[in-house]
Amino acid sequence: MAETCDVVIIGAGAAGLSAATRLARAGVSVRVLEARDRVGGRTWTREIDGAMLEIGGQWVSPDQTALLQTLEELGLETYPRYRDGESLYVDRDGVAHRYTGEIFPAGPETEAEIERLVALLHGMSLEVGADEPWAHPRAAEYDAISWREWLRRQSDDETATDVVSLYVAEAMLTKPAHSISLLQALLMAASAGGFEHLVDEGFILDRRVVGGMQQVSERLAAELGDAVRLNAPVRRLERGDDGVVAYADGGIEVRAKRAVVAVPPNLYSRIDFQPPLPRMRHQAHQHVSLGLVIKVHAVYDTPFWREDGLSGTVFAPFETITEVYDNTNHDDPRGTLVGFVSDLAADASFGLGEEAQRQQILEGLARYFGPKALEPRVFYLSDWGSEEWTRGAYAASFDLGGLSRYGALQTQPEGAIHWACSDIAAAGYQHVDGAIRRGWAAADEVLEQLRA
Ligand code: FAD
Repeated sequence: MAETCDVVIIGAGAAGLSAATRLARAGVSVRVLEARDRVGGRTWTREIDGAMLEIGGQWVSPDQTALLQTLEELGLETYPRYRDGESLYVDRDGVAHRYTGEIFPAGPETEAEIERLVALLHGMSLEVGADEPWAHPRAAEYDAISWREWLRRQSDDETATDVVSLYVAEAMLTKPAHSISLLQALLMAASAGGFEHLVDEGFILDRRVVGGMQQVSERLAAELGDAVRLNAPVRRLERGDDGVVAYADGGIEVRAKRAVVAVPPNLYSRIDFQPPLPRMRHQAHQHVSLGLVIKVHAVYDTPFWREDGLSGTVFAPFETITEVYDNTNHDDPRGTLVGFVSDLAADASFGLGEEAQRQQILEGLARYFGPKALEPRVFYLSDWGSEEWTRGAYAASFDLGGLSRYGALQTQPEGAIHWACSDIAAAGYQHVDGAIRRGWAAADEVLEQLRA
């Protein structure tokens, strides 16, 4: 027996649930069909061996106003990331240097070159903007050159270009710098308010949510009650003149006037769209993919690095773990370090096998923080690439040339189908803030259609 409602939403991540609650608050009836046995998608707050860990998205920055507004509405509090003391920059020879401030102690000439490149990219990112980067007069040109190659052409200082490359490649898109375009890098920077913000970890990784980011989705879902169905992967979505029909596991069949597909674009092909989507969309979906990063958590009895005057922040562009931060939970006497192993290094790390992988990562942390780092109480490596309903981390980006060719199509409705997720956001692209913004935007499109 088919259920009927005004709007069916596919995916109960921050985007789908933001769309659903906005629609429900406007008096529209909704059903949310979620493939997993939980809500939250790429936000996932888990208790592992007695430690509360953020397996997915966690940080909030001051410009993420959609997320900040949502947190306030839901009664969720934030706290600042610990960052007192000196940070470490690990140079090309593996030597760790202590420093404070934003620019790494890479030597005066290299530092000046980094600053020059950052200023240049900041201006370019603001000029291209996050809303329609494909519409910039030089979009095709910027999309035809790799981020790596463009940087190389700007400077002979390899350390400067490697460091600047990291802010987008390893740290954000989590793909090798040769596989993403300059245009995609500029979108990433513009979506965060400009390249200068990407460089400023004090800004971009400012605060965390007390009790965990997944609560955003949990609280939005609680507001929707029975309208959210878990363990309901949508397998088929039909669209016609009088609306849509979504078919999910468990014999679920939902008839609605409109649908919001709130899953990352790499998973669109898991749904059998009938009639098939137009050719251009099928092409577009084959040029967008998720990056890959391992989020490493190591929990210790105390945050022992603080006694040594260290903030816990490490930048190591030439090492396996390229970034480390103090990720100690609010009001927790234990100390937690979080590290990131990105793209090619992630492939190599997984290739080692579990024991050797653990050893390699802990030895890496020990080189930064001393032998105490070798013995965590809790150790956990995220494996988003193996998650059937995600398949990577953090989010999606186009291959070379894809953004200028297909970008404009991403948010355009297809008949009664609308699209939402952080991967197709402008401001907040790849972040929880962008998921919420796209959720709201899709809901507004739907409301306009329903009222027409
Ligand atoms: P998702 O969260 O992916 O939600 C999509 C939902 O759709 C999922 O629940 C999925 O199960 C479901 N689904 C998929 N296919 C189907 C189907 N066929 N039928 C039904 N349901 C389906 N962002 C930040 O802002 N700050 C951070 O610090 C940060 N760090 C991150 C660290 C990691 C390791 C990862 C993985 C992400 C991080 N992000 C961060 C990114 C952020 O978590 C995501 O951009 C955001 O949560 C995406 O939300 P979404 O709703 O767009 O997509």
